[in-house]
Amino acid sequence: MEFLPLFHNLRGARVLVVGGGEIALRKSRLLADAGAVLRVVAPQIGAELHELIDSSGGEELLRGYSEADLDGCVLIIAATDDEPLNAQVSADARQRGVPVNVVDAPALCSVIFPAIVDRSPLVIAVSSGGDAPVLARLIRAKMESWLPPTYGHLAGLAARFRHQVKNLFPNVQQRRAFWEEVFQGPIADRQLAGQGAEAERLLQAKIDGQAPAATGEVYLVGAGPGDPDLLTFKALRLMQQADVVLYDRLVAPAILELCRRDADRIYVGKQRADHAVPQDQINQQLVALARQGKRVVRLKGGDPFIFGRGGEEIEELAAHGIPFQVVPGITAASGCAAYAGIPLTHRDYAQSVRFVTGHLKNNTTDLPWKDLVSPAQTLVFYMGLIGLPIICSELIRHGRAADTPAALIQQGTTSNQRVFTGTLANLPQLVAEHEVHAPTLVIVGEVVTLRDKLKWFEGAQASI
Ligand code: SAH
Repeated sequence: MEFLPLFHNLRGARVLVVGGGEIALRKSRLLADAGAVLRVVAPQIGAELHELIDSSGGEELLRGYSEADLDGCVLIIAATDDEPLNAQVSADARQRGVPVNVVDAPALCSVIFPAIVDRSPLVIAVSSGGDAPVLARLIRAKMESWLPPTYGHLAGLAARFRHQVKNLFPNVQQRRAFWEEVFQGPIADRQLAGQGAEAERLLQAKIDGQAPAATGEVYLVGAGPGDPDLLTFKALRLMQQADVVLYDRLVAPAILELCRRDADRIYVGKQRADHAVPQDQINQQLVALARQGKRVVRLKGGDPFIFGRGGEEIEELAAHGIPFQVVPGITAASGCAAYAGIPLTHRDYAQSVRFVTGHLKNNTTDLPWKDLVSPAQTLVFYMGLIGLPIICSELIRHGRAADTPAALIQQGTTSNQRVFTGTLANLPQLVAEHEVHAPTLVIVGEVVTLRDKLKWFEGAQASI
């Protein structure tokens, strides 16, 4: 190991920064965050750095560096673009045995700054020993995406109960098992979901030996329109800790792959007309699984609250007192529009957008057609393929121009995405000609012409 990672308590300690530019500012910010008192020496010091020094209770020395500046400092940072000066500062500090960091010169450093993921009080530091800082930063970026921003609150929760748990379990192994359960179970979920008081209540009950018989929890998770990259961090985290996953036909296999390997997977998908599992059975199944203490992910295409019957599922859960969380997803309209190059609103073409179900009951035309014909409004039809001839003819009959641009987007955001553009008049014909099948989204409105203006082509998204 080239460098030993240590965490330095700088609260109230004096740190010397030599240099007054951009890099000095960046380092000073970190130091100030850690509570250091800054002493900055440089002939010129920028306004922002000046303020930072002030608020740290430190001092600025507007002149050249001298060796005596090191007096009383526990850490030295050389952040000038004057190499001989940096080397001098390094030599002086080493002479005194004070840790020194020279920016961008690992050979002159006795300590180096790691890349940091800050979930205080939880802090993760990554270092490549100065050899490949970019690599360290990339790893940090990955960690940032794994750890929800509130992750540090778990450490706060543990801190509040540490003594009680220590008294309860003098044995280290028991203690470890206890905390592992807490950090990976429903108590941690509550804390991460921002329900700190509930997390404390559950933890206290667990300590008191009165933990209620483990009830599970249901997560209604929006899986987005198909591209796994469009999942939210929260969706991924919950998918990776699920005991059971109930999924729809719309959920792409690549997304299902991201669920915990040993989670049970139950297919409850619906096909048009022949519902594989009736909705009330799904609702009951969710309740039953949660009652067994399972963490159940109900994975839904797009967003659970947009034509996803999510509302019905949580009604049932609420009625049975089962805790649940709803994780929004990117709905087909946003995903397909973005990947097809069709902005849903635009200052010149559409001041509003309307999501409409095209699933016409018994072929009746019970949509509010009169409200749908305003030219400055984009319409997005979900489940509109079967009813498309009726939708187009009714829109025209109620006054929307027959040459209104329209688009069909099949399997949007996936590698199989197909887009066809035409007009209200010829859209049904396009479906037949190109054998368009579900899932397909229909977008109607002037904004569709922007796809050509932007010279959009399939795969454009991939090349950005
Ligand atoms: N809750 C989902 C919608 C479910 S309704 C969401 O928010 O996206 C199912 C309809 O959504 C399909 O009939 C189709 O019209 C549309 N849809 C979902 N995913 C799609 C995709 N990848 N490409 C095109 N249309 C899609």
